[in-house]
Amino acid sequence: MSSAITMKLGVVIVAAGSGKRMESATPKQFQFLGQLPILAHSINRFAECYPSCKIVVVLSESHIEYWRNLSGRFTVAPHRVIEGGSERFHSAKAGVEALGEDVDIIAIHDGARPLLSSELIHRCVEQAASDGSAIPVIEIFDSVRLLDENGDSAWCDRAKLRAVQTPQIFDAITLRRAYKQEWSTKFTDDASLVESLGERVFLCEGERRNIKITTQTDMSYAQLLIEEE
Ligand code: C5P
Repeated sequence: MSSAITMKLGVVIVAAGSGKRMESATPKQFQFLGQLPILAHSINRFAECYPSCKIVVVLSESHIEYWRNLSGRFTVAPHRVIEGGSERFHSAKAGVEALGEDVDIIAIHDGARPLLSSELIHRCVEQAASDGSAIPVIEIFDSVRLLDENGDSAWCDRAKLRAVQTPQIFDAITLRRAYKQEWSTKFTDDASLVESLGERVFLCEGERRNIKITTQTDMSYAQLLIEEE
């Protein structure tokens, strides 16, 4: 693969989830973190790192107009908005298709992870440009147990496990091929999809602050982190 500098980057930000676990009237991706809606942070961070990247934001149909109005009141980098699907897979697939053929590498990022650093973005893009993929992961500090269908559980070696984050970045040709597969419940992220083609995926170091805002507690923690910046 060639260097990250000469490659065209496409970014798909998936934000079409219902956010039920947040228990709030305003979907989490539109809530404020510091001065900006959560989704605006995710968009702007990619645009700051790679000003010529092509950004597609995937939203549920019912939120598209809402986001147009909201984003118009702030400084949000240029992006195209498209409609998502019933599962993350369908939303990401729609985003990959909307980017078209004119990109060499594609980053898929959860709109609910607004705190990723520019170092993380650069690290993932550079690795994907040289190795074909970059999947950021972090170590698990809690002890973990593996459940079985009888309700029993067993010790599990946490040293062999990693928690997976986004942005997950891939060579565009491989990712487009991966999204031609039929949806399956085992496809919880893009790495699982590429792997099922028989392709090897390459991990890289994620970062602990790159949390996926899922609950009100995550939101309070994210407010503290953004105030520190
Ligand atoms: O549900 P989960 O937390 O795994 O969602 C991860 C990301 O995928 C979120 O940013 C969410 O908005 C997005 N998503 C989506 N379309 C869906 C479901 C989830 O874009 N149908």
